[in-house]
Amino acid sequence: KQRVLSGVQPTGTLHLGNYLGAIRNWVKMQELYDTFFCVVDLHAITLPHEPRDLLEATRKSAALYIASGINPDNASIFVQSHVTAHAELAWLLQCYTPIGWLRRMIQFKEKSASQGAEEVGAGLLTYPVLMAADILLYGTDLVPVGADQKQHIELARDIAERFNAKFGGKKWKKLGGRGGRLFKIPEAFMPPTGARVMSLTDGTKKMSKSAESDASRINLLDPPDVLYGKIKRAKTDAFVGLEYDNPDRPEAANLLAIYSLVTGKSTEDCVSETAQMSWGDFKPMLADAVIAHLEPLQQRYSSIMEDEGYLDSILAQGADKAEEAAGRTLDNVRQAMGFVPRR
Ligand code: ATP
Ligand code: MG
Repeated sequence: KQRVLSGVQPTGTLHLGNYLGAIRNWVKMQELYDTFFCVVDLHAITLPHEPRDLLEATRKSAALYIASGINPDNASIFVQSHVTAHAELAWLLQCYTPIGWLRRMIQFKEKSASQGAEEVGAGLLTYPVLMAADILLYGTDLVPVGADQKQHIELARDIAERFNAKFGGKKWKKLGGRGGRLFKIPEAFMPPTGARVMSLTDGTKKMSKSAESDASRINLLDPPDVLYGKIKRAKTDAFVGLEYDNPDRPEAANLLAIYSLVTGKSTEDCVSETAQMSWGDFKPMLADAVIAHLEPLQQRYSSIMEDEGYLDSILAQGADKAEEAAGRTLDNVRQAMGFVPRR
């Protein structure tokens, strides 16, 4: 079986973009692949954070994985910081990753611009290296992510190739290693449609956990009245009728895409259904569809959270499995780089 790894940062509560762009695909993959899904809490401190919020968001995210349909009997669900190999490999990789590669990352440019470039923590720049470590530790074949993460996966591939060339093969063998490549080269696995859900308040920006305004996103745990209100107040334009491919109407395209994704209707069907509708007709219909789509997930979430011991035991079991796999890779890398083994 090929191996799959993915994760979400506990920077806030999960939203519809995380679900439609990532988690929903994990659910489909868990039967076919050997899957690892982590809550990447070490990534969540790359922008200023509140300890209490991190604690809550981490447990919530893990519970939402399960509520979304990830089955802990199939997949390993774990918290990144429970497996110390992630931070350790990130350091080893970092020392051989050119700063120029990191400065080119779009997400760094975007997120650092909003913080003031000189004040921003160094971790925001090196974050993609930690992500490379997450992936490479598990010999991952496929990384299911939204389109916004494609550049980071490419970086992980470049880092892996550079390391293999520098420390793998014969050199490693001379140090007593297996020889060959240290890391498998991973590939991004992107969902064909709806890979990018946009903000409710600006159709040109992606929906984000860390965006300041909560009105910009549909959180998976928003109660029906909140969802109704957010969708009602979502940004609109002065046109009548919904359209999908008018570049002047990013909001219409986004809301229509959401409608199509939550109802399971094809884009064409949604376009013909809504072509004559006013925003006032369309929005309540969209809100109802979103609410209905999230209801079963929200119910499962509540029952998972009622039993605290359950979640902890899933996370402990996941961390054990992950640690074993990650430890093997880390030992290889230490050996290949010339670190003295601890006796
Ligand atoms: P943050 O704002 O803190 O970066 P985020 O909402 O971007 O949070 P991440 O934890 O960075 O979420 O990403 C988790 C997964 O969700 C990734 O696979 C990412 O590609 C996907 N994802 C995030 N936002 C969207 C979106 N708007 N549409 C589709 N997929 C998304
Ligand atoms: Mg993100």
